[in-house]
Order: sequence, then structure tokens, then C-alpha cells
Amino acid sequence: MSSEKKKISLVSDLGEFEFIDRITEKINIKSPDVIKGVGDDAAVINNTKKTIVTTDILTEGVHFNLVYTPLKHLGYKAVVVNLSDIYAMNAIPGQIVVSIAFSGKFSVQAIEEIYDGIKTACEMYNVDLVGGDTSASFTGLTINITAIGQADKNSIVYRNKAQKNDLICVTGNLGAAYMGLQLLERENKIFKENPSMQPQLDGYDYILRRQLKPEARKDVIEKLAQHNILPTSMIDISDGLSSELFHICTQSSVGCTIYEEKIPIDQETATLSEEFHLSPITCALNGGEDYELLFTVPLSQHDAIAELKDISIIGHITDKNEGLQIVTEKGESISLSAQGWKSF
Ligand code: ADP
Ligand code: MG
Repeated sequence: MSSEKKKISLVSDLGEFEFIDRITEKINIKSPDVIKGVGDDAAVINNTKKTIVTTDILTEGVHFNLVYTPLKHLGYKAVVVNLSDIYAMNAIPGQIVVSIAFSGKFSVQAIEEIYDGIKTACEMYNVDLVGGDTSASFTGLTINITAIGQADKNSIVYRNKAQKNDLICVTGNLGAAYMGLQLLERENKIFKENPSMQPQLDGYDYILRRQLKPEARKDVIEKLAQHNILPTSMIDISDGLSSELFHICTQSSVGCTIYEEKIPIDQETATLSEEFHLSPITCALNGGEDYELLFTVPLSQHDAIAELKDISIIGHITDKNEGLQIVTEKGESISLSAQGWKSF
């Protein structure tokens, strides 16, 4: 960045058009499918398959706290949460458009930090930034991203096709992002009450990363395709395992049984949740923002799934009238919608 650019600090000094030029410069379109990216009234995209579209909004004070969220991570996460929804349809994201609204207190450099994160995510996931919109805001920062993907008609996976006896699978581990958030909130509260106290975040790199800079499971979607495994249903875990199982079971008109001992939980999640007097399993079931994938496969795929790393089989699909059940480590069967499991 040249020193001349560094001097300009407020977006209002720059004017809207120069500002848009600034944040969209150095965008290199990677895919030949993008016929027109930033610069016209709308982008033009070539697509021979089915188009998959999703959008997600992140609002300051609701979805993130700028006190402890690095702007670059925020931009990265805003992209990832959208891509996660595209992957959850078993589709491949190709493009994003980014709309951003912010108040006069933001410097050009601050917005550029957010775009740095956005562009880094685009590189990581091989996605093109093809447009957006920019607006002033009186109520804090809002970032809305729309992602566009594609898939063959027959490989799209919905929430509503889980069948009785299917295996229930999850990727990675659960509850980590939630515990990362608890840690950040706790340290923020301590700091606010006593500004001489420095935040104690050592030893929790993994869960902090899961909260601040999550990843979407592109790798899993690719691996399933390589192994010719087509899930019967799939959803990404943004609101906690319980809630996502509920969506799959309701939409598929089935029930499910999962096993507490099979639910993957990282050691940092377990350690910190105990410090917070929370059971790790509650964090896995009800904590949000894991962005792992929850999917079902026919029982006949058991051996193929068991061979894959980082995928856990946690239970199976049952009849609708059996409801949603979790079998505890003691062997008790508890309804997943029972009080205490449903929400904190
Ligand atoms: P319009 O008046 O047609 O909405 P704009 O001046 O808002 O056009 O945008 C001009 C071009 O810059 C468009 O191609 C738009 O997609 C792109 N653009 C505007 N804001 C952003 C942004 N925040 N991020 C990425 N692209 C943007
Ligand atoms: Mg516009």
C-alpha cells in the first residue's frame, strides 16, 4: 500500500465510486464462467448446471462483537458461512456478491481489512467476488453475502430425503465454536469490569479459531464425490446438532437415535466447558456455528464411510413415531426435544 493511500482515512473523504474502486481493485477473476464481474449493473455468469443460491447476513451486535473480532477474520467468516450452505446442498460454490453497510466511524483501511478477509476466503475456496453494494449505516456494521454455486440435478442433496435405517454422520467435532465464544465473552466482561486485567486466552487457540475463523467443509464434499457416496440428506451445523437433526427429521418425516458416546468433541471444548460448568455434550448439541456437515447415508455405505477420516457415525434414522432420541453413556434414552437439551 502506498503512503498516499494510507493518509486517506474516512470513506467520506474518498466518495462512493473511488471507495468501490479501492475495495474491488486487485480482484482477479479465476473462473471462465464469469463473463462479467464487478463494474456493470450486474454480473453475468455462465452456467450449464443447476444454480444454487444462498444468502446470509451478519449484523454487528447480533452476530459479532467488534471488540474482539479481528476485521479480517470477520470478512473471512462472512464468506465461509455462505459457502457452507452451498456445500450442504452438495454443490460447488463459484461466485459471491458482497453488500456492506457501515457508519462514518469506519476508516477505509478498516473496510479494506474486511475485504482482505473476504478475498482470502475467495482464494481458499476458489470462488470469485463478482459484485456487491455499499451503503451508509447509522446502526453499526452489516455485511450481507450471497453465494452462487452449481451442481448436477441428480447430485443435489436436500434435507428431506433421509430414510429409515440410514446412518447419521457428522464431520469434524462439535461445540468448539460455542466454547470459543464463551471464552471471548468471559474475557471481554472481565476486561470491561477491570481494564487492567489482560484477557487470558492462552491454550485455547483451537476453539478461538473455530469461533473467529471457521472453515466450510469443501474437503468433505470433494471426498464424498471421489468415493461416489451420495448422502440421502444433508445440512450444515450452524445452530447446533439438535436443531439440525430436528430439521432433517421433520422434513424427512422420520425419527432418529444418536449416541452420546459417538458425538465427536475436541479436548479443548471438553476442558473449557467443564470450567464453565456446562456438559460438553450440551455444547455439542446446542452450541452453534460449527459449520460442520450433518448427513445421512444408506446403511449399505457403512464401510465406505467408516474408512473416511474426520467423519463420525453417530446414530441412525428411525420411524417418525420414535421421535428424536439420544442414548446417554449410561444407556438411558432421552428425547432430544426434552427440556435442557433443546436450549440453554
Ligand atoms: P449500482 O448503482 O448499479 O448499484 P454501484 O455503484 O453500487 O452500482 O456498483 C458499481 C459496481 O461495483 C457494481 O458492479 C457492483 O456490483 C460493484 N460493487 C459495489 N459495491 C460493492 C462492494 N461493496 N463489494 C463488491 N462490489 C461492489
Ligand atoms: Mg449499488
